[in-house]
Amino acid sequence: MTVRVRFAPSPTGYLHIGGARTALYNYLYAKATGGTFVLRIEDTDLERSNAEYEKLQIDDLKWLGIIHDEGPDKPNPKYAPYRQSERAEIYKKYALNLIEKGLAYYDFCTEEELEAMKEKAAAEGRDPIYEGKWKDPAFHKEALERISKGETPAIRFRAPKKAYTLEDKVKGRVVYPEGMVGDFVIVRSNGLPVYNFCCVIDDHLMDITHVIRGEDHLNNTVRQLMIYEALGAKTPEFAHVSLLIGHDRQKLSKRHGATSVNLYRNEHYLPEAMCNYLCLLGWSHPTERDIFDKKDIIDVFTLDRFSASAAMYDLEKLKWVNSEHIKKMDNHSLISLIEKEPETDFFNKQTPDWKNACVELLKKYAQFITDFPKLVNELILNDDPEKSDAFKEILSWETTPKIMAFISDEVAKVSDGFISESVLNGWMEHVKKEMGVKGKPLFQGVRAALTGHDHGPDLKFLIPLTPVSVLKKRITHLKK
Ligand code: GLU
Repeated sequence: MTVRVRFAPSPTGYLHIGGARTALYNYLYAKATGGTFVLRIEDTDLERSNAEYEKLQIDDLKWLGIIHDEGPDKPNPKYAPYRQSERAEIYKKYALNLIEKGLAYYDFCTEEELEAMKEKAAAEGRDPIYEGKWKDPAFHKEALERISKGETPAIRFRAPKKAYTLEDKVKGRVVYPEGMVGDFVIVRSNGLPVYNFCCVIDDHLMDITHVIRGEDHLNNTVRQLMIYEALGAKTPEFAHVSLLIGHDRQKLSKRHGATSVNLYRNEHYLPEAMCNYLCLLGWSHPTERDIFDKKDIIDVFTLDRFSASAAMYDLEKLKWVNSEHIKKMDNHSLISLIEKEPETDFFNKQTPDWKNACVELLKKYAQFITDFPKLVNELILNDDPEKSDAFKEILSWETTPKIMAFISDEVAKVSDGFISESVLNGWMEHVKKEMGVKGKPLFQGVRAALTGHDHGPDLKFLIPLTPVSVLKKRITHLKK
């Protein structure tokens, strides 16, 4: 069996973190099995759907590297079209077929009548299950007459009176007791089919073998199982992945902060880091690895490693994952990302060797790409560092002013440009051998004189990256 999976977003907003995770799982499963990943646009809610959101969502998926094999822009003639708004005729045909078979019926009940039925059921302590007259096949003829006079009824599916069982790949066995849902609308009186109906027709016609989606759809699944049965269609495998929750254990929503992918994209998170973190929200690597790229897990991605319990969305962990991806990224790729950042004029003007050495040194301090220009300003270009208490303490040692005076003279002798590591080593040797300063007073003294700090990146890498012009100003400032 060739695996066919789908991501079926409704274009009613930006791509949500939860949606991106669902898309990612489908994508990974398709890649892991040599299957096909389909993108279907569920835009039957015409009022809320918007072509712009469709574009933006696809764009965000592309940014994440979650690339579909089939979709509105990559149609396979066997399955197209991929937008539900373009499949109205198909749904109509299937709905009429269900009516013909007596598995669905026309319903002319008005909103008021439906409301009254609900109130009556509530007063009698019953579930609000449809019991309108149109359920009775005896009224089918009357229904056809009213339609021929131009009335437009809803179409309601006749829910079988029996229990349903789902063997879900994540949730295990889910039992839906008899009578849990009553007859439900599949086509509204305005002619628009509903999600539960379109979804089944499409999954069936598009030969979808596995439905991987959020647990919030578990309640829809019973209705969908009924429709599969009515169509005589094979049900796909289902994997309902766990809910995403915030720190307060409530369903993840906007009040927990940024929940749409584009916000992370704007903040220059790395797409691979996003995918890595999203994947960990409800799925675990067989060797419990936390850091990986999509290509690393394609071979090990299976549906039996999902966790059934809710996954907590933790921004701090995402940031950590981002910093780990920065550390493992090759310098060349990092440099090209940094060059696109604002305020990188100085960085951009340096030689390839300088850039390489700079990135190699700073990548362990950066959580985000945006940190690089900040780190360059702070650690390399800062010519009037604040004199911290730690600096003042080092300056109070007897040896430090002498070291500062020596280094200041040495730096003054150098014309602009950069000093090499061996020049720096020479200064250290001089302080040690000629001035007799060793150990902490030597290392801290030289560091304080050159940087104004008591700690920081290894001097032998940092100082050769610092322009001599900056060192001169910095030392003058520190001596004051
Ligand atoms: N359009 C639905 C949603 O946005 C898709 C549900 C499904 O995957 O079946 O949640």
